[in-house]
Amino acid sequence: MQSRIFKFAALAQVDEMLDEFQEEFGDLPEKLDSMRLRVSELQAILDETEGITADVKSFISSSKITLIEMKDREEKLAKQQFLVRNNKEFDAITKEIDNLRDAHNKLIDELRGSGVKQENLAAMLIEQKKDVEASTVALLEKEKEFNIINSGQNAEVQALFKLREDRSNALDTEDMKVYNRIRSYHKDAAVQVRKNSCSGCYSAIPPQIIVEIRTRLEDVYTCEQCGRVLFPEELELEDIEL
Ligand SMILES: [Zn+2]
Repeated sequence: MQSRIFKFAALAQVDEMLDEFQEEFGDLPEKLDSMRLRVSELQAILDETEGITADVKSFISSSKITLIEMKDREEKLAKQQFLVRNNKEFDAITKEIDNLRDAHNKLIDELRGSGVKQENLAAMLIEQKKDVEASTVALLEKEKEFNIINSGQNAEVQALFKLREDRSNALDTEDMKVYNRIRSYHKDAAVQVRKNSCSGCYSAIPPQIIVEIRTRLEDVYTCEQCGRVLFPEELELEDIEL
């Protein structure tokens, strides 16, 4: 039967190895995150430009139809003008024709503006597509780097995770909470007493406590300075073979 303190030490041992594997990735995971974010931001910008382009395009095509309709109406009105019976009717039609011409000219101006806008948007689209492409290629390269390290580690890391699961299950729930709490600020949550000191923070441990740590393996002692769980130097942990 393993002692309570042995279980802490055994879990810390497997976590230390897992942390070493993790360190091989260096800052790759963070880099990948920020590159993925960059790609999605650039894609969002591109999507927006494509949306505006579609709006401008549909404005242009509907305006062209409107212009034709205005011309037809104007011709009809011009014909009606010959058939009027009095000045009042003539003036009314003249006024309508003038209004129609104003609206027609205004729309032509707007169309001209939209044409320029469309050209600018097309140029922007080319640049934005290039940006999305370049950032995607860079991301794929980085992912490849990550996958090479990952596949190299895979079998060993899987075995360690399995071992970690077994060793976590060996600890009771409350002890696991203690372990996790310590590990949230110290990666090495359980450390050896070495040369009468905590090997996590190197602060000295009173001789009386050292005696207790050595003899009372069902009690959990933590370092007064750093809070890590302490286990005696002579506690024997077998090396993990992968
Ligand atoms: Zn300490």
